Amino acid sequence: FMVVFDGSNGAGKTTVINEVEKYLISKGLAVTLTREPGGTHIGEKIREIILDPTTPEMCDLAELMLFGAGRAQHIQEKIKPALCAGNIVISDRFDAATFSFQHYARGIDLDTIIQINNLALNGFSPEMNIILDLDPVEGLKRVKSRGEGLDRLEDEKLEFLIKARNGYLMQAKQQPEKFKVVDASQSKEKVLADVINIIDSLIKS
Ligand code: C5P
Ligand code: MG
Repeated sequence: FMVVFDGSNGAGKTTVINEVEKYLISKGLAVTLTREPGGTHIGEKIREIILDPTTPEMCDLAELMLFGAGRAQHIQEKIKPALCAGNIVISDRFDAATFSFQHYARGIDLDTIIQINNLALNGFSPEMNIILDLDPVEGLKRVKSRGEGLDRLEDEKLEFLIKARNGYLMQAKQQPEKFKVVDASQSKEKVLADVINIIDSLIKS
């Protein structure tokens, strides 16, 4: 199965993913870690273009199609082969992020996003999205306290991040069978315990 970790910046996706990987390996399971934008050679090049602060002139539709192109390559080159080999695939962001950031935060119309995403997915869909939910004010503090800036500082002001967060919560409400929300303001241990519970039930099903 494929599980996606997603949510607000600074919510702790990377930390949780690394712990989950250790947990699965300790159970003798094979894991493929990946991320979006990125995941493949081509995808990482696309990531560079999308996150490059010197290319602010890129229009929304072009950006959306780059996300789509990266996703198509990602599924074809990496995700499907890994799943076929019996691996559990864990992705740091996937298509839920496109809905949150490009639709709910940036305002690209939903139909356009659905069309391009459906083309990219070509019938594929991850089994589960685990949303690490955190107040963006707290998330920004965490990002800053680890000495990082946001990758896309210019438009990721607080208001933008609040809209993106609400986008994740909205998707979770609309598709409860595909989304689980974990409160990322809890201790690291509790967040991980909640996540492992979800992973365990996926393993059993
Ligand atoms: O996952 P990570 O936080 O490293 O994401 C990289 C950057 O890409 C973030 O700043 C995120 O907000 C942005 N992003 C985006 N639209 C997406 C996915 C990620 O703007 N669909
Ligand atoms: Mg991260």
